[in-house]
Amino acid sequence: MSSRLDLGPKPRLGYAGSRIDRAADRRADAVALAALADDPQSRFYLIGGEVVALKKTANRHDPLFGAAETRSLGDAPEVAFIGLLDGAARFAISLPPAAITMLQARQDIDLVDLRSIAVRGLLESDHLSALAEGKALLGWHARHRFCPNCGAATRPVEGGWRRDCPSCRALHFPRTDPVVIMLAIEGERCLLGRSHRFQSGMWSCLAGFVEPGETVEEAVRRETREEAGIICGHVAYFASQPWPFPMSLMIGCHAQAQSREIVIDRTELDDARWFGRDEAALMLLGQHPDGLTAPLPIAIAHHILRAWVERRIAFD
Ligand SMILES: [Zn+2]
Repeated sequence: MSSRLDLGPKPRLGYAGSRIDRAADRRADAVALAALADDPQSRFYLIGGEVVALKKTANRHDPLFGAAETRSLGDAPEVAFIGLLDGAARFAISLPPAAITMLQARQDIDLVDLRSIAVRGLLESDHLSALAEGKALLGWHARHRFCPNCGAATRPVEGGWRRDCPSCRALHFPRTDPVVIMLAIEGERCLLGRSHRFQSGMWSCLAGFVEPGETVEEAVRRETREEAGIICGHVAYFASQPWPFPMSLMIGCHAQAQSREIVIDRTELDDARWFGRDEAALMLLGQHPDGLTAPLPIAIAHHILRAWVERRIAFD
């Protein structure tokens, strides 16, 4: 790490570090789950597509609703058992359009998308991981109403952790899509790119979906070569992050670059270039003289870059 810059205490990664016990052994007992859903101790996260219902409070927002409040909004299209926290059940329910309209009219409720909740720090960070679990799961239900095998309508079972096809008997499980997100390193420089959708001045790690029949290491090398023309050798796993947009797992890596000349795939990237440690540190701190920025601490890209700046990576 630069001797001139102190990045301060390590921030927490968003959507990770859940304290909830998923209590998978409770999922099969539909009667017991129905009783839990009526229990006054149980709490519900209300999710309508991208937005989450939040109660306005004096300090932060509160995303937890009781059983009676939740029932008053009408029948939920989907209910998912998130797990147990301190002995009480947590559920996530999907809001029907009429309920969203009803909540929008209320002065004591905000409907906010999950990215903004994280970026603006609207909730205690413990809620982010539970909401990531609920949003990804409910999003999967919304897109898997019909059997991919035979086309019949499927039905949710196991507390929302499976959909069964009554026609061909196929069982469908919620999926997580693996994405590699990596920092290629060449000597004292690292490779950052700009996606077309980034705001001005923002740079981040390259990323891409792992393809069928591919290891994480192979995906890191392929994506870095495809997007920026850089050949990578050794790949070291760093950390991972649930990313519920809609249901990915970000697999963070550092990679040793074996070439230097960048060849940008303009369909994938707006730009890519090498950055030194001091420049990357200023971007992480939001103090870059040209206003360049790196992702916020809620995103794993921030932590991948910071680990390199602080010389905390496997092969440095
Ligand atoms: Zn089927």
